[in-house]
Amino acid sequence: MDTVKTLREKYISGATTPTEVIQRFLDSIKDNDKEINAFLEVYEDSLEEAKKATELYKEKGADTPELLGIPIALKNNILLKSKKATASSKMLENYTAVYDATIVKRLREAGAIFVGATNMDEFAMGGSTENSAFGPTKNPVDVSRVPGGSSGGSAAAVAMGAVPVAIGTDTGGSIRQPASYCGLVGFKPTYGAVSRYGLMAMGSSLDQAGPLTNSVADAELVHNTMAGVDEMDATTISVDTYPELPNKEKYTIGIPRHFLSEGVDEDVLSAFNQHIEELKAAGHEVVDIDLPLFEQGLAAYYVVMPAEVSSNLARYDGIRYGLSEDGKDLLEVYEKSRAKGFGAEVKRRVLLGTHVLSSGYYDAYYGKAELARKKMREELADIFKKVDFILTPTAPTPAFKLGEKADPLAMYKQDIFTVPVNLTGVPAITFPMNTVERDGKSLPVGVQYIGPHGGDARLFDIAKSMYDERK
Ligand code: GLN
Repeated sequence: MDTVKTLREKYISGATTPTEVIQRFLDSIKDNDKEINAFLEVYEDSLEEAKKATELYKEKGADTPELLGIPIALKNNILLKSKKATASSKMLENYTAVYDATIVKRLREAGAIFVGATNMDEFAMGGSTENSAFGPTKNPVDVSRVPGGSSGGSAAAVAMGAVPVAIGTDTGGSIRQPASYCGLVGFKPTYGAVSRYGLMAMGSSLDQAGPLTNSVADAELVHNTMAGVDEMDATTISVDTYPELPNKEKYTIGIPRHFLSEGVDEDVLSAFNQHIEELKAAGHEVVDIDLPLFEQGLAAYYVVMPAEVSSNLARYDGIRYGLSEDGKDLLEVYEKSRAKGFGAEVKRRVLLGTHVLSSGYYDAYYGKAELARKKMREELADIFKKVDFILTPTAPTPAFKLGEKADPLAMYKQDIFTVPVNLTGVPAITFPMNTVERDGKSLPVGVQYIGPHGGDARLFDIAKSMYDERK
């Protein structure tokens, strides 16, 4: 598999050019993607940029920005000026972005070329990409299975070899879980490390953008390019403001054993235990820890997240953005536009969120969930005095079959290990730990390393030592 690093080496040596790579992508993607449906749109005009990049390599060789000519796919809830930004919703089917997201600007300044928009669960709500208004994406490893979600199109785009990098967003696991299902590296930064300006908000206190890649080094490079304080997003911070966390030769890694005792697939658990042995063999210390509050993350997430969703999605009212239906009065315009524009999962969450924020229930639900969140942060702060990382499987199972999790609760349970990370704002990385056999196919499963606030660089350090790149 091409990584950013290998592709750039080939560009510098002249073994290939950005023009060749992007032309090949454009020639083949429509056919190759017929079955997978990773892309909602392919950008033909990327070829013009590729030609410029090719010229620059001829003139300047290695003396060029690090991502020059690297094709990148963007989840379609990230704004790219003059391109459609649909969030895979009927509501925004014909909506065109009027400005660039900050991360888009930064990647472009580093030379990246955006080649297309990837499919996703509608407004990033889901864990399988089956909630897209434009049809599901399939997992390139086994097309009878989902690629995970909500950044399933981004994961599939990398897994099928179309691009070396795709950008996703992660509100409760939407980068990490699809990376796990598709055998990729996925990174969710410390909250605030990456600007949310130009990202369609799902849960504003939870959302972060991050890379899906074939190697840890690529994830690190792409993340570092996107990260940093942005005057357009007041929640951005420099991770340098956290206490310094220098890399170590030997790390201490905590295993929340009790947390793993229920609902984790046996094969996933044995792959996980094998990974622990590899950590020990590499000289790291592994200790058991308890995280009783962290274990309640799922319950708190499914209160906090819908509350934020209901508020963030109020802007799609048939007046300001996207789809608009006629009505006899303003209320009917709202009702008809929202009824037609939103899919079932989005409606479910808006209803749930409105309920938990309503005056009679605010204290009982939203207030409690926010309190639980605060306690979880305290629990984590204590644990991180004793260990450098917390280790879990990324998801409790490998990729499941399309249609298998029709019950929303069954789908929500896939997020058990990922959502506490967003609730507490800490960073986490996933990479493949092994494969498990299902119906004659080897399905990848990922391991998740969770670090303390600001521990982003350290996560890349340990991940690089335990995983190199997808072959
Ligand atoms: N699967 C989770 C959910 O449905 C996470 C979504 C996300 O991170 N965007 O909410």
